[in-house]
Amino acid sequence: MRIVFLGTSGSMPTPRRSASAVAVRRKGEVILFDCGEGTQQRMVAARIGFRRPTRVFISHLHGDHVLGLPGLLMTMTMLRRERPLHLYGPQGLLSFIRAFSRVLDAPGFPLEVYEISGEGVVFAGSEYTVEAVRADHEGECWSYALAEHPRPGRFHPERARNLEVPEGPLWSRLQRGGDVVLEDGRLVRSSDIVDPPRRGRKLVYSGDTRPTEALAALADGADVLIHEATFDDSLAERATEDGHTTASGAAEVAARAHAGLLLLTHISSRYQDTSLLLEQATAVFPSTRVAEDLMEVEVPL
Ligand SMILES: [Zn+2]
Ligand SMILES: [Zn+2]
Repeated sequence: MRIVFLGTSGSMPTPRRSASAVAVRRKGEVILFDCGEGTQQRMVAARIGFRRPTRVFISHLHGDHVLGLPGLLMTMTMLRRERPLHLYGPQGLLSFIRAFSRVLDAPGFPLEVYEISGEGVVFAGSEYTVEAVRADHEGECWSYALAEHPRPGRFHPERARNLEVPEGPLWSRLQRGGDVVLEDGRLVRSSDIVDPPRRGRKLVYSGDTRPTEALAALADGADVLIHEATFDDSLAERATEDGHTTASGAAEVAARAHAGLLLLTHISSRYQDTSLLLEQATAVFPSTRVAEDLMEVEVPL
């Protein structure tokens, strides 16, 4: 699983920072969180294909998070995408899509739009789920957690052979967690042969928000927390007023969540140099990096 930052600016794009979008590449699939203007150019630069299985999770309907959708859908149409695209987000997302689709005569492929009606799991796949909780911003805004299912523990064939379990269906049963009784009446437990399940990875994306308890709970034990940090701490009042978070505010959420790594994004255009943000965040939560456009972060198993 690899995170690719496509746009890391807060509200206003700058020459170095495009509007908000984060791609997660996982086994040939692309999972996008937000789709600010310029997303498709950044996807070209990052060599992310437009015909892959793709899900897009939109935090809220502010322009800096959704204006990339018309361009993205146009490009996908021109490249003759055929696969459906799955889009999730707040109420109103469907009317936004309809408004520009009518004019642009796009997309030319199936688009499935899910407007989120409440907190909880919004996508449940065979390998991971995506859960949404309410963010604290202007209007309806969602934070998302992508959590992989636990993976089965490692199977030890030599242990199975030592216990004289015949290879075949019984091995499969043990691998899936079931115990087996052999022909001679002996019971062999799955735990004798297979290690305990291994946890899956978890990645959380805040969207635009003031710091919230709900987000800290959602990010509990996350490998990576991608949190907005629009302002530095000297602008804490402004952050609260506008529904945003400061560098140390984001770090406090990461600390409460015991996250592995904090990645700061949605950086205000006032910061050419982000060392102040990094300094303030690392004072609270050392394992922090400030995202840059096209920065890639591998999330190991
Ligand atoms: Zn924003
Ligand atoms: Zn916003």
